[in-house]
Amino acid sequence: MTTTVIHKLVVIGVGLIGGSFAFALRKAGVVSHITGVGRSRENMRRAFTLGEIDEIASDIESALKDADLVFLAVPVGQTAEIMGQISPYLAPSTIVTDAGSTKQDVVAAAHSHLAPHLKNFVPGHPVAGAEKSGAGAANADLFRGKNVVLTPLKETSREATQKVTELWEACGARVSRMSATRHDEILAAVSHLPHVLAFALMNHVVSAGADGSNDAHDNELLRFAGSGFRDSTRIAGSSPEMWRDICLGNREALLNQIDAYQKELTAVRGMLAHGDGDALERFFANARSARERWLKSLPR
Ligand code: NAD
Repeated sequence: MTTTVIHKLVVIGVGLIGGSFAFALRKAGVVSHITGVGRSRENMRRAFTLGEIDEIASDIESALKDADLVFLAVPVGQTAEIMGQISPYLAPSTIVTDAGSTKQDVVAAAHSHLAPHLKNFVPGHPVAGAEKSGAGAANADLFRGKNVVLTPLKETSREATQKVTELWEACGARVSRMSATRHDEILAAVSHLPHVLAFALMNHVVSAGADGSNDAHDNELLRFAGSGFRDSTRIAGSSPEMWRDICLGNREALLNQIDAYQKELTAVRGMLAHGDGDALERFFANARSARERWLKSLPR
C-alpha cells in the first residue's frame, strides 16, 4: 500500500491520460491539490468542471510554485519545448515524470532541456489508453490492472523512481522498469505497428470504395463492413496529432516492424497465389493458438 502523498500535482496536458491520472490519484486519496496547464481553453474548462483539476494555471511559473510532482501528458512532439519552458522554474525537489508513448525521444529531450533536474526525472509510459482524447474522455479507472513502464535514466534517483512507482500503484497499475530502447522496440511491435495498420486499413477501404467517399451510406464497401472491420479499425479513431508524434518519435523501430510485417503479408500472399490451403490453414492456426495462449495469460 502506498504511503506517498503529494500536496501539489501539476498536470501539463489535461487530456485522456493527464485527466485520468489526476482522477485516479484523487480517488486514491493521495493528492491534495491539482493544477492543470493546457493549450485549449475549452478543454481546460472542461477538466475543471469535471473535477479533474482544482485550478487552471495562468502561467508556468506560478503553476510550478511548490509543486511536488509535474506530470507531462502532451503529445510527445511537444515534450522538448515544454521541458524547456518548465526547467527554469523547477524547484530542486520537484519530481517530473511523463506519459509519452515513446521513450528514447523523451529521454533525449530531457538531456537537452532538463539537464539540471535529471536526478528527479522519471520517464514513464502507461500502457493503457483509448482511442478517445481530451479531458472529457478521462476516467479514474483507466490504469487499473494495466502496465506502466518506467525507463529511469542513470542519473534518476532511486527515491524519485520509487515515488513515481508508488503513485502509479495507487492508480491500480503494475509497474515495470526497462531501458528506453527496449521499451521502444516492444511498443513498436505491439502498439505502434497495429495503429499504423488500422489507419492504413481504413484509408485503403475508403479509397477502394466505389466512389471514394468516407460516408458509410455512399461508400459501398463501408456499407457492408461488419463488426470484424469495426474491431480491426477501432484504433484508427485515435488522435492523428498524437500518432504523428509517436511514429516520428519511434521511427527506426517502427520501420523495422513494418518491414517484418510486410514479410508476413508476402508469405500469406504467396500461399494464396499458389492455392496452398494447407499452408494457409497452418498460418491461421498458429496465429489463433498464439492469441489464445496470450489471452489466457492476461490477468483477470
Ligand atoms: P489527449 O489529446 O487526450 O491530451 C493531450 C492534451 O495535451 C490535450 O488536452 C492538449 O490540448 C494538450 N496539449 C497539447 N499541447 C500542449 C502544450 N504545448 N501545452 C499544454 N497542453 C498541451 O492525448 P492523450 O491520449 O492524453 O495523450 C497524452 C500523452 O500520453 C501522449 O504523449 C501519448 O503518447 C501518451 N499516451 C497516450 C495513450 C492513449 O492511448 N491515448 C496511452 C498511453 C500514453
